[in-house]
Amino acid sequence: MIDTKTRLLGLIGYPLGHSLSPLLHNQAIEEFNLNYVYLAFEVKPADLKKAVNAIRAFGIRGVNVTIPHKERVIPLLDEVEPLARKIGAVNTIVNDQGKLKGYNTDLSGLKRMLEEDASFVFKGKKAVIIGAGGAARAAGFTLCQAEIAEISLLNRTVKKAEQLAGEWSEYYPEIRIKGGGLSPENYYQELKNSNLLIDTTPVGMSPNTDEFPVIEENALHSGLLVVDLVYNPRETVLLKAARRAGAKTLGGAGMLLYQGIESFKLWTGKEPVVENWKKIL
Ligand code: NAP
Repeated sequence: MIDTKTRLLGLIGYPLGHSLSPLLHNQAIEEFNLNYVYLAFEVKPADLKKAVNAIRAFGIRGVNVTIPHKERVIPLLDEVEPLARKIGAVNTIVNDQGKLKGYNTDLSGLKRMLEEDASFVFKGKKAVIIGAGGAARAAGFTLCQAEIAEISLLNRTVKKAEQLAGEWSEYYPEIRIKGGGLSPENYYQELKNSNLLIDTTPVGMSPNTDEFPVIEENALHSGLLVVDLVYNPRETVLLKAARRAGAKTLGGAGMLLYQGIESFKLWTGKEPVVENWKKIL
């Protein structure tokens, strides 16, 4: 029941479209019988500072932060967890008596998905990441933090892949990291001896579900775990091809789910039941 003690949780982003976060978080609030409500707030970039001040003024316990605010929100916070600062992106804010601290649960979310839904072990493994945007950034830092042995980052715009790979190498000199173009040669060469492929491009996302992100389907093999961060549709063209090649596959819904669980834990100290959220997704 909503009363004078009810506190807000929420999501800020622009545009928000059809976010599943309110459904998931409000289910957990109900499950634990907590006096919170989770709402989605469309906040235009020009209003971000006002929105962050409103978190303080209204005593909002915490918010998720999504595109396009993940980077620009950082200077507006009182404190940022070291890893989120290193990545340069915050997706969760916790308000402790007016003091706002930023976290990035995308990383722990992706790591949990790989470990819990595919039993993936990082040490000694090689990964190929396709794309060099915000999601690739989160994926690369996740793998480096988990002490993977080698990463090959392939992107349509080669310069961006080289820049990001260079940045990771500075932070993690013990990991073999290189950036290159998304050519058929690189694709075959790098996937041949890889254990993990993470596609971080939006290619294949609804409504353009027939698009294929990779150049050659034949490069996929049964020794791979193939992850597509796109979660709509559930099984993308890439994942279908990977399944045909005998590879293990994971869609992006798990990352969404686990990062949300980590955020909810930061705000409330309670851990939503994974199976309940999976049913909703
Ligand atoms: P972004 O910053 O815009 O980066 C997109 C990347 O994809 C860029 O490197 C871009 O290459 C590449 N790309 C785009 N279209 C391409 C094409 N037709 N062929 C080859 N490469 C292409 O986007 P983002 O924030 O990283 O998000 C990417 C995707 O990840 C979205 O679909 C998003 O929904 C998904 N995502 C999922 C989760 C989750 O929880 N599951 C979390 C975050 C993001 P260039 O550099 O050459 O432009």
